[in-house]
Order: sequence, then structure tokens, then C-alpha cells
Amino acid sequence: MPRSHDGRTTLNLGKFWKMGVRTIIEPLIDETLSSWLYRVNVSLGMPLRFYSSPSVGPDRPSLSSGGASMAFSDPDIVGENLFLEEVATQLSISRGWLEKRFPRTNRPTVPAQYRRSFCIHCHSDSVKAVNNPICKSSWSYLTKPQCEIHSVPLIDCHLTVSGTADFSAQTLLWYCSVHSIEREVYLSNDACKLRSALALNVQRRISSLEVGVDVSKGASSVEMFVFTLMRAMMMPQVHHSYSKIAFRQWESHKRYDTRGTYINFFQEIYRSTCFMRIHALYLCGIILGWVDEDEAQATNKIEGWYSPFAADFIWGMLKDSKLLRLMFTELKRYESSALNLNHLRGLPSPYRSSYCE
Ligand SMILES: [Zn+2]
Repeated sequence: MPRSHDGRTTLNLGKFWKMGVRTIIEPLIDETLSSWLYRVNVSLGMPLRFYSSPSVGPDRPSLSSGGASMAFSDPDIVGENLFLEEVATQLSISRGWLEKRFPRTNRPTVPAQYRRSFCIHCHSDSVKAVNNPICKSSWSYLTKPQCEIHSVPLIDCHLTVSGTADFSAQTLLWYCSVHSIEREVYLSNDACKLRSALALNVQRRISSLEVGVDVSKGASSVEMFVFTLMRAMMMPQVHHSYSKIAFRQWESHKRYDTRGTYINFFQEIYRSTCFMRIHALYLCGIILGWVDEDEAQATNKIEGWYSPFAADFIWGMLKDSKLLRLMFTELKRYESSALNLNHLRGLPSPYRSSYCE
């Protein structure tokens, strides 16, 4: 059962059952479990704080305070929230009903405590449809930092908003109430419009290569191959290829502390912002030849700041990295006929003989 912060159980749907409330609202397409639960809560007139996950939000316990055992409870995964059994009983719905509408994804996703992205246009659409903003599952997919419906970068709100029971309402409130945010978001997106558009092409190309692959059973090799390249593009040697604003709100105070290099290779991307991941995808596009040199050079010229426009420049930046072997070992794990090491452009022959054989 869910508990409020003072430890009391606060869910009591039976009371409302007796009042004759029997219509349960359906989740919208791609809506998250927590978003739907919040709307059910509102529609039934429940106290707003009927659900709180101890693993996320500003009050989340630190590992040192004994929160480790709760740290992996994801409010959007049916199997990880025991209180749903009580909810299902009270609402006369089955666990199968919940699992069908909120299937667990095996795509790489942002961990619950770092989820903070939203699309303001999707908010607008859902407000029109159901009078409430909703949260979408796809906003947490690490290889999809842009909304494919509206073709815009997702917006990263402040981390304190993540994990709140009314996350969608909070993001809308945050967006509307912080004076400089809207201006800053538009300015930063405007300054990188071409890069974002080319990164969106890369994002869509992953999906096109996945045609025929059943991603419900696990992330596809194509997605994991690009995901590994994105990790590589976030290594410190590549940091100066990014706009300074990409590092804003990145929850890494000591980016790539040398003592944790291997761990950071895997972990950094989980707390990166959408803005950062868009730029990582753009660089992946250059390395894979999906963004050609002319496009990248034109992008630098039009947007007025430099980042590598050719794959061999990027390989040159990585030449001193101690993680090249790790990177190629990971890439080899995810090779497929659709995407493999042979698709990497400008790969220096010493790399090929040392790491790819
Ligand atoms: Zn959207």
C-alpha cells in the first residue's frame, strides 16, 4: 500500500466505491502508469497525495540514509508497485488489464529519479483531450530525446520536479511560472535548430532500421549500438564539441572523475539532459555517415559555433581515451546486419586492427 510521508496509508478507494463512482478513465496512448493513476485519483476526488514513491522526487532517500533497498522502485512499472494489487481490487480491474495498458519496456530509459523531460505541445494536446497534461512513457527513452509527434526537442525541467505524483501538472506549472525558462528554452533550441533537426533524423533512422524487430522483448541491437556510441560521445574528450548550455542541469558535479571512469562510461548518460543527448545523437550521425560533412559544416556556419564536422576529427579526439577497448567491446556486442562496425566512418586503421578484429 502506498504511504504518505508520515507513514500512513492514504489510499482508500473503497469509500468512493460506496459513493457509486464506477467509471474508470482509460489511459491515453503512451501515458505512463503514474500519470494515469494521478488522473484516476483526481477523477475520483481522492486526496491529491494518494501516492508517493520513496525512490524519486526531492524527498528521495539517499543511499547513505538506508534508501538503497527502495531505490529501484519505478512508479511506472506495474510489477514494482505492490500497492497496485489493492488498487486493482478496489477498481475491479485485473493485473492483466494493468499490464496490457502499461507494458514494461526494455528500451534503455532514464531512471525514475532523473526523469524530468516533457513536450509542451503534447501537454497542450492532452489538456485539450482530457483537461489534464499527461506524462508519456516515450519521454524517458534515452535514444529519443525529441518528440517525434511534434518534431521538437523535449524540455528538461528542474530535477526537483521529477518523481512528483503530479509530475505532468508540475512540469506545466514550472514551464509557465519560471519567467526566464520559456525564453531560455526557445533561445537554446533556436540556436541549435539545425543540429536538432539532424539529430531527429538520426533518432528516426534508428526506428526505421528497427522495422520488423520486436522491441517489446528487449532493446534492439540497432538501438543498443547507437546507445553505446552515444555513451562514447559523452566521454570527456568530446565535451568541448558541445554547446556550453548542454551541461546545464546535468547532474554530474564531477563529470568523469578519473577514479570512476569505467562506471561513468555506463552511468553518465542516465543523468544527462535531453539537450545533451540530442547533441550526442548528432555526433553519432556524423560517425555513422548519417549526417554528411557538408551538412555538418553548414550547420557550424549557420549556427555560428564549431563542433567536429567529420568522423575522423571525432576519432582523433578519442585517441587518448583509455576506454576505446571497452567501447569497441560493447559495440561488438550489439553488431547486427543492419548496423555494425563496418558502418563507422573514418575509423583509423590502427583502431580497426587493435579493437575490431
Ligand atoms: Zn510532443
